[in-house]
Amino acid sequence: MIDILRGCNIRCRDCYNLQPDQIRPLAEIEAQLDTLLRLRRLQSVSIVGGEPTLHPDLVEIVRRVRRRGLFVELFSNGVALTDDLLIRLKRAGANVIFLHVESGQRRPDLPANATAEDIRRLRTDLAARVAAHGIEVGLASTAYPERMGEVEETVSFTLATPAVSYLLVTWWRDVGRMPALVGDLAQGMTSVSLSATPAGSPREIQSVELCGWLERRFAITPFAFLGSNFDASAPRWLSFLVGTVHRQGRLIRQQSVQPTGVERTFLKVIRRLTGRYPFYQKQQSLQTGLHLLLNGLASGPLGQRLKFLAHAARPGAHLGAKRLLFQWPASIDEHGRVVHCDCCPDAVLKEGKLVPLCISDRVHPAPAAVNPP
Ligand code: SF4
Repeated sequence: MIDILRGCNIRCRDCYNLQPDQIRPLAEIEAQLDTLLRLRRLQSVSIVGGEPTLHPDLVEIVRRVRRRGLFVELFSNGVALTDDLLIRLKRAGANVIFLHVESGQRRPDLPANATAEDIRRLRTDLAARVAAHGIEVGLASTAYPERMGEVEETVSFTLATPAVSYLLVTWWRDVGRMPALVGDLAQGMTSVSLSATPAGSPREIQSVELCGWLERRFAITPFAFLGSNFDASAPRWLSFLVGTVHRQGRLIRQQSVQPTGVERTFLKVIRRLTGRYPFYQKQQSLQTGLHLLLNGLASGPLGQRLKFLAHAARPGAHLGAKRLLFQWPASIDEHGRVVHCDCCPDAVLKEGKLVPLCISDRVHPAPAAVNPP
């Protein structure tokens, strides 16, 4: 990820962005990009902030990322995503825009006491506007265990809306109350005060509970996960891949893709050919259909897959793939060590080192720069 500025044009409940407003110069961003490319075999880069649309050089940043052969995912609250900006972003090569629209935001395009219906309408309008410019659409959302109704609405909206292909849900964590941290992803990170996650933090939903809930509520099952830096079998970054069929804008069928040897072989081949994993994949009906068919052959329920594809082949039907990601931000264990997603796919550069985006404002890669609290 590249973090191009601090500062925003709205207020979100529990914003993790703790630094004062600051716009990073284009030359600095480009240098960061080249350092990232030296440190990791990247296939795509996410542009985050603050609110990236406030950066005067956003379009040029997108262009320079694309010029390096990388895909671009942009995160935005959507307030300043005018048609003019979308045209320029598309021309510059933006691939996906993740829209961050949810309850608890103070924003000019929603009433002060926005209802779930207001939020759904705004998400629908923004998604349609972005998709009309040929840019893929994702939704980014913060989840609170005590507000599972909102998570349910977000998942339901993603599955039901043909224009939306991605969902990134980040479980809420009170990062502002975390102690200062030192280190980076390469050497490991620890808490300066050796204190654990602040007392009084609400109980978090566990990945097993979430999977059970999603299966009961939406009949979807996980496709893959990343464990933690200490335990590869403890999911912190869960991904679901769901095939969908829409007709006349309505969801009529959905089916989870099961992880099989087909996907593993595909990933290995692509990695062998390109030197990296295909993190971003453009949505294409034909490719999705072929994937579902091969997946059915490899995982068993071929009859179901064929029935599903038969629905997709009917006149007016649209076959799509939805990628849903759920991530648990880094936390501190009882030894003061930072526990985070293995290899952290959402790493940013800080002082020349890679650190997880979710705690980047708390981490100081160089211990000498830290004044213990
Ligand atoms: S920034 Fe990295 S560690 Fe944090 S939630 Fe995202 S993937 Fe996990």
